[in-house]
Amino acid sequence: MRDTKIERLQEIIDESRQIVFFGGAGVSTESNIPDFRSAEGIYHQAYVYSPEEVVSRSFFLRNPGIFYDFYKEKMLNLDACPNPAHSKLAELERARRLIAVITQNIDGLHQAAGSNRVYELHGSVHRNYCLKCRKPFSAKYIKNTAGVPHCTCGGVIKPDVVLYEEGLDDKVIRAAVSKIAEADTLIIGGTSLVVYPAAGFIDYFSGRHLILINKSQTAKSVRADLSIEAPIGEVLGQIRVNKSKRED
Ligand code: ZN
Repeated sequence: MRDTKIERLQEIIDESRQIVFFGGAGVSTESNIPDFRSAEGIYHQAYVYSPEEVVSRSFFLRNPGIFYDFYKEKMLNLDACPNPAHSKLAELERARRLIAVITQNIDGLHQAAGSNRVYELHGSVHRNYCLKCRKPFSAKYIKNTAGVPHCTCGGVIKPDVVLYEEGLDDKVIRAAVSKIAEADTLIIGGTSLVVYPAAGFIDYFSGRHLILINKSQTAKSVRADLSIEAPIGEVLGQIRVNKSKRED
């Protein structure tokens, strides 16, 4: 017997044509990617640096070696695989029911599952550039290089990941917000919605159904049509994807 909330979610998805999914760290934790903010600090020369400190722009520029020790161990999870949340969202896109995935994750698992329209608010570990000449490098190259990865020109390579003290990419934000404005259904998953910019994004939504799916309770100020307290992969894994009909 399926849960009545899952039945309701199925109904809403079946009548939607322009779903936008907004996902937080919870989408990745089901692929065994820990939230790096919950990682322990890094010990070096009798100093202890917190994750927030290490993953900041000024720290990266000052101590790239310590940054990369932490980054490679805690943030570069190249063995992780997509979970049922990623797969189902990709399937919904192919069935022409979903128009965008907006994510705060940097692991590229939505694309690995087959999603094409992905807006990565915090960048991606799969893009890396030389700070001097902008030459691109793969995540594998970063992972397999001991110490600080350098370009052939001698420049330091930086992951295209938004660090603390850095702003989000305006173009990505504008595109994400315009997709939310077009959406008939907005599904927010794997985030408690307390973190910027998630909370503010909802204001641009004027569609019919707002759905929250998260393991723990989300911010109470958000009025949702449907709120499911369960892991996102477990919930979306139960959804059937029916092709949207041509005449719709
Ligand atoms: Zn270079």
